[in-house]
Amino acid sequence: MVAQVIDGKAFAAKVRAQVADKVAKLKEEHGITPGLAVVLVGEDPASQVYVRSKGKQTVEVGMNSYEHKLDAETSEQDLLALIDKLNNDPAVHGILVQLPLPKHLNEDLVINAINPAKDVDGFHISNVGLLATGQKAMVPCTPLGCLMMLRDHHGSLSGMDAVVIGRSNIVGKPMAQLLLGDSCTVTIAHSRTRNLPEVVRRADIVVAAVGRPEMVPGDWIKEGATVIDVGINRVERDGKTRLVGDVDYASASERAGAITPVPGGVGPMTIACLLANTLTACCRANGLPEPEGLTA
Ligand code: NAD
Repeated sequence: MVAQVIDGKAFAAKVRAQVADKVAKLKEEHGITPGLAVVLVGEDPASQVYVRSKGKQTVEVGMNSYEHKLDAETSEQDLLALIDKLNNDPAVHGILVQLPLPKHLNEDLVINAINPAKDVDGFHISNVGLLATGQKAMVPCTPLGCLMMLRDHHGSLSGMDAVVIGRSNIVGKPMAQLLLGDSCTVTIAHSRTRNLPEVVRRADIVVAAVGRPEMVPGDWIKEGATVIDVGINRVERDGKTRLVGDVDYASASERAGAITPVPGGVGPMTIACLLANTLTACCRANGLPEPEGLTA
């Protein structure tokens, strides 16, 4: 079997077009423009690239983008004061604090200072609890993107065996909650899991979120399974730097029914889902119906 490639780049473009369409309607019918504030502390080069890309795409879908770049030495007090200001600004519907923060800042404290209704990353403890109890939450962007691609490919996920490899708060745990919410039978595997190959071989859906280049070989994949590769790993090959996933794409795509490539799979969906979450937050804040197909 040669796997169908799930094209995250094309899917993300579709999501952005849907968001742009709904933003235009919000402006026309209600005079409201969704706004996303992104806070960057320090000069981490990867974070700078992400923030630039987020700002650009926010503007492209017709939303307002507010970028706050703070010095690496910024005190916790000053950062919390900015978050308080954004929490109370009616033009700001989504707030994202780019992680990681410099060591002297307490990430949990900072994230939990964001108004949960504006927490478009879905990392606030209230949103984690809402998701875990099946209530209306802001859902972390990367797992939301994975869920959208799985729903698009399969329609219903009900009753499927899903394995999530990785138990991080950003990807693994919320991904497992979302799959459970869609009635999958979910296993969360991690660094201490025994017989990982056997666990993965049982799965109709494999989501790999580990951060280890090509650690899942094709012979772990059940014939016809759907593979979602979240990993982004930089490796040196033939003197060049390349991006590879957590799954060995060449061998896995000979057994899987469908697979996301790296790059061009999950990656582009993350920012698209951030825009979708900002739109959702804006609709909720204004008592308007949520955008269909763009939430969990
Ligand atoms: P993390 O380091 O926080 O978590 C990794 C998880 O993998 C841990 O729970 C750990 O238990 C598990 N693990 C480690 N070694 C293992 C092993 N040998 N077998 C099984 N499990 C093992 O990482 P994260 O933030 O969840 O990110 C995971 C990967 O996804 C990284 O490559 C990251 O770059 C990527 N990522 C991509 C996006 C995107 O937009 N596509 C977003 C977030 C993260």
